[in-house]
Amino acid sequence: MNRPVIIVHGGAWDIPDEFVDAHIKGCERAVLAGWDILKNGGSALDAVEEAIKVMEDDPTFDAGIGSFLNEEGFVELDALIMDGASLNAGAVAGVRRIKNPISLARKVLELTSHILLIGEGAEKFAKKIGFTLIDPKDLIIERELKRWLMIKEKKLKPQDFFSGRETVGAVALDVNGNIAAGVSTGGIPFKMPGRVGDTPIIGAGAYADNSYGGVAATGYGEAIMRVLLSKTVIDYLSRGFSVSEAAKKALELMYRKTGGRGGIIVIDKNGNIGYYHTTTRMAFAYVINGRLRSGIKVT
Ligand code: ASP
Repeated sequence: MNRPVIIVHGGAWDIPDEFVDAHIKGCERAVLAGWDILKNGGSALDAVEEAIKVMEDDPTFDAGIGSFLNEEGFVELDALIMDGASLNAGAVAGVRRIKNPISLARKVLELTSHILLIGEGAEKFAKKIGFTLIDPKDLIIERELKRWLMIKEKKLKPQDFFSGRETVGAVALDVNGNIAAGVSTGGIPFKMPGRVGDTPIIGAGAYADNSYGGVAATGYGEAIMRVLLSKTVIDYLSRGFSVSEAAKKALELMYRKTGGRGGIIVIDKNGNIGYYHTTTRMAFAYVINGRLRSGIKVT
């Protein structure tokens, strides 16, 4: 029997002081929801899905309700969940009418022979299996509408917010030694309609393999995809590096090769927890030996 552990992140960027508390509290609520499942013998997949659902429902984060709006003023959501036991994964991209994309990703994993469903097709699948399709407006909150208007009226440049990344992620190891990893995001502010980042891409946004560990990433998606950041961390673990070394080496490699910054959470097959980021701050929470730890890590 394994000692279960879980870690979540609430994005890696220069989180302003006034948002620090909401980020820490949001991560704590999420990790405790996942821990409740793990401590009762539940699966890593269930724990990851539940933790991410809590953060999707929390408007603090760029996932689910409260996500950044695209150029056309819509929220388009991406999510991925991966099972380290089977290397199977499920993902959705560019969905506008799904409240919890991580749960739809889980259904893609369990009910289809595919890995990634996009836009309308993903929503049709959701409807078919009984998900409620929400009004796209239900994902939009005042704060993001204001941000969008400021960018549109050219009072702010979208790149002023490119340091703002609050994608959420979770990695868990359960009592049976199974590892799962997942991520969910609204992407980046004022993105082109149809833009898909690293989050739903297996090996980029997240990866899990029971033989080595599980990883969830956040940061500049266009860089993360180019180096398959999460799989790169796994490759370092497979070469014998520790969780912290593997996360650090992968992020350094990404910066060296692409100039992109980001953050990583990782659990190895023995239940060691690591995190690292090359952004200014990263929000995280984890439970190890039954004890909750949380914070905003500052470089
Ligand atoms: N990686 C996400 C994306 O580029 C953004 C983030 O991590 O916050 O869509």
